[in-house]
Amino acid sequence: MAPAILVAGGGLAGAAAATWLARAGRAVRLLERELHPGHKICGEFLSWEAQAWLADLGVDLDALGAVPIDRVRLVAGDLVAEAPLGFAARSVTRLRLDAALLEVASQAGVEVVRGCQVRELGRDGTVLTSHGPLRPETFIVATGKHGLRGMPRAREGTLDHQLGFKTYFRLLPAERAGLAGTIELILFEGGYAGLQLVERDQANLCFLVAPERFRRAGGQFTPLVEDLARESPHLSRRLAGAVALLDRPLAISNMPYGFLWAPGPEAPPGILPVGDQASVIPSFTGDGMGLALHGARLATRALLAGEPADVYARRLAADARGPVGRASWLQRQIGETSARHLALVRLARAAPALLTLGARLTRLAPGRLEAAGLKPGMAA
Ligand SMILES: Cc1cc2nc3c(=O)[nH]c(=O)nc-3n(C[C@H](O)[C@H](O)[C@H](O)COP(=O)(O)OP(=O)(O)OC[C@H]3O[C@@H](n4cnc5c(N)ncnc54)[C@H](O)[C@@H]3O)c2cc1C
Repeated sequence: MAPAILVAGGGLAGAAAATWLARAGRAVRLLERELHPGHKICGEFLSWEAQAWLADLGVDLDALGAVPIDRVRLVAGDLVAEAPLGFAARSVTRLRLDAALLEVASQAGVEVVRGCQVRELGRDGTVLTSHGPLRPETFIVATGKHGLRGMPRAREGTLDHQLGFKTYFRLLPAERAGLAGTIELILFEGGYAGLQLVERDQANLCFLVAPERFRRAGGQFTPLVEDLARESPHLSRRLAGAVALLDRPLAISNMPYGFLWAPGPEAPPGILPVGDQASVIPSFTGDGMGLALHGARLATRALLAGEPADVYARRLAADARGPVGRASWLQRQIGETSARHLALVRLARAAPALLTLGARLTRLAPGRLEAAGLKPGMAA
């Protein structure tokens, strides 16, 4: 039998939306295509908003081994600028976080079906899955970075040309100590990387790079990282003697940074995209997870209030337009050339408060979370 509410995707947004709806007494089935928890491409930096919504959901980040981060370092070539982040961030692997969220969803009464892929959303609202067709009253699309046939994301005006990669390293003790408590943003020709510790003393290296640079490295990950390390003495020092912890890196292409969903005139009713299917913010000091959770919260509140999808879309746009717009603007200003990167780090060294300001301006405003139902006092 088709459930009243069907959720496609058991990442942050899907698991959170399903949990909040189940806690409100709704029957929810969530389909996750992966049979087992796995690694995901993500810098794994949790801003305060993400932590606030995770606390609301009952996820215990301490129990997951999340590590604290309170400083940001901007690096280009030999130049380094450093400043306080301005809020208490944390980091934890998606392997642990997403598994914990699906556990929370199950405990709330969500029917979690792993190993089931949603293949297409038909024009008449039928959802085709690897386990057969379904016709739910409400379909929440939370497939994240992965597109779903029948739910195209508009790409105009987005920045979608770079390739994304992520892996983990075990750093030498001195480098690990140097990185502790800090997110490092390392700029290089054609892109930038985020480097930070996650639980069990692993270092997450996640970066965006121009496809030409990847091609120049023979289309191979290890030569690409060696090439980046040659350009960045800082990265080279961090990775000296480090051991790669994954057999293969995770990779992604065509992320439409800057995308904000707006339902078209022909959008079938009862379809609610959440997470990266609704908003994609450039990842500097990472607010993608916070925004994914926030959007899931707005979607579930609209649904529970019986409001149509475009009311949710307008609220999401009102809350997300500022941070997404500013992060996209910053991404364009930073650009991809070394000369610009060096100028930027010189500026940040002269006025470190600019880094703290940049981190604040690319975040959701605390009042937006409280307006979406976050308990007073939980916002930063
Ligand atoms: C390179 C990079 C670095 C990032 N770094 C950060 C960061 O440091 N901090 C931060 O806050 N954000 C970061 N983000 C953004 C963040 O990862 C996303 O915003 C967030 O994961 C979105 O959550 P989601 O639930 O929408 O999607 P996802 O987390 O991608 O989850 C989608 C889920 O749907 C499942 N799925 C996909 N297709 C189907 C299907 N057809 N049927 C069933 N299931 C399906 C997937 O298996 C997955 O479990 C980064 C993003 C990128 C690309």
